[in-house]
Amino acid sequence: MILKIVQVGDPVLRKRARALAPDEIGSPRITELIEMMRDTMRDAPGVGLAAPQIGVSLQLAVIEDTTHGMSAEALAVQQRSPVPFHVLINPTLRVEGEDVIEAYEGCLSFASFMMVVPRAVRVHVDALDETGTARTIDATGWYARILQHEIDHLHGIVCCDRMDSRTLTTVDNHARRR
Ligand code: ZN
Repeated sequence: MILKIVQVGDPVLRKRARALAPDEIGSPRITELIEMMRDTMRDAPGVGLAAPQIGVSLQLAVIEDTTHGMSAEALAVQQRSPVPFHVLINPTLRVEGEDVIEAYEGCLSFASFMMVVPRAVRVHVDALDETGTARTIDATGWYARILQHEIDHLHGIVCCDRMDSRTLTTVDNHARRR
């Protein structure tokens, strides 16, 4: 089932989401929610979706970057490579090192807008997966950007909070000017 993605201005995007309790992880309700979030992310399409974006204030996000249709050159510029589908539950993120990279990013809750957001190049994430198993992720480049973006959503932070405000553009203008 495809869920409605809430847009910026909806208060749920500004709330700090609640952590999932151990007995919720793997429950039919959460398993079904994860499936619907996966389908909604793929339909959008997007490379990540956090539960607050479908109006559910829980520490839960899904990520998948197929990089489908991107040229090798574009992938190299973005330091980007495919990321298989996975689930983040109750994640914590630590920035590694001081390197920061600026790039245009979008958000499914900012339909039709893009903006330059500086992000740490390297991050370490501790999270649980959909079975409640602890996972650690050490990511760089575009994957590190996706993780920072989605985990921000779980804390009520959205990309315009971190953007270079003079770079805000519509998707159409961004495509026209590159
Ligand atoms: Zn977003």
